[in-house]
Amino acid sequence: MISVRHLYKLYKDFVALDRISFDVRRGERIVVLGPSGSGKSTLIRCFNRIEPHDGGILSIDGRIIDEQTDLTQLRATVGLVFQNYNLFPHLSVLDNCTLAPRLVRKTPRAQARDMAMRFLTQVNIAEQAHKYPIQLSGGQQQRVAIARALCMQPRIMLFDEPTAALDPEAISGVVKIVNDLSAQGITTLCVTHEMGFARHIADWILFMDRGRILEISRPAQFFTHPATRRARDFLDQMI
Ligand code: ATP
Ligand code: MG
Repeated sequence: MISVRHLYKLYKDFVALDRISFDVRRGERIVVLGPSGSGKSTLIRCFNRIEPHDGGILSIDGRIIDEQTDLTQLRATVGLVFQNYNLFPHLSVLDNCTLAPRLVRKTPRAQARDMAMRFLTQVNIAEQAHKYPIQLSGGQQQRVAIARALCMQPRIMLFDEPTAALDPEAISGVVKIVNDLSAQGITTLCVTHEMGFARHIADWILFMDRGRILEISRPAQFFTHPATRRARDFLDQMI
C-alpha cells in the first residue's frame, strides 16, 4: 500500500534522504531506528508532505504523493504525532480532538465528541477532557496528541518519538494502541529511540544512517544479529 522508490530529499545542498526504497503492506508496524540526524523524522514527514521530497516516487494505495496532492485530504489519511505534540493552546482537550473531524470530515458535533471520548479513554486521559493543554503534564499532552490524530481515523499513522515524555505504564498504553491500529488494518510508521518499545511493536525494523536505509529486518533478527556493522555499533551504544 505504501511504496517508496528512490526517495530523495535535500535541505539546500545537504542530502537528507539518499534514494530510499521500500514497501509497506497494509496494517504493518514499521519502526524506524537510527542515530540522531540520520533522516528518520524527515522520512516520515515526507508521507504527509510536511516535508516535500525532491526526487523519487512516493505512493499510497497507488496514489502518487507530489505537488498536485490535496494536502487536506492527504493529512486526513495520514496522521502524524510529532515529537513536541503542538496541541492548540486555546482549545480544551476535547475540542482539540473534535476540531479537525468536524471541519475536515464534517463529522456532526455529537458524533465527533463520542469518538474523541472513546480515543481519550483508550489513551487513559478521558477525565482530563475539559482541561486546557497548559494544565496537563508533557506525557498527558502527548497522549492527547495521539487521541487527536486517531480522531481523524487515518489509514496510516506516523509517530515521531511518541514515547519520549511517557512513563512505562503510558508506553505500554501506546504499544496497545499501535497493536490495535494494526489489527484494524491501519499502517504505522514509528520513529523511536526506545529499544524496548521498538522490539514490542515492530513487524519490521528499518535502520537508517546518513539518509540511507542500511537494513530492514525482523526485530528478533535485528536485535540479535544486525546485518550491518553500523547497526551493531548503534545497538552496542544503546545498552
Ligand atoms: P533525531 O533522532 O535527532 O530526531 P532524525 O534522524 O530524525 O534525528 P532528521 O530530523 O530527519 O533526523 O534530520 C536529518 C538531517 O537533516 C540532519 O542532519 C538535520 O540536521 C537535517 N535537517 C533536518 N531538518 C532540516 C531543515 N529544516 N533544514 C536543514 N537541515 C535539516
Ligand atoms: Mg527526529
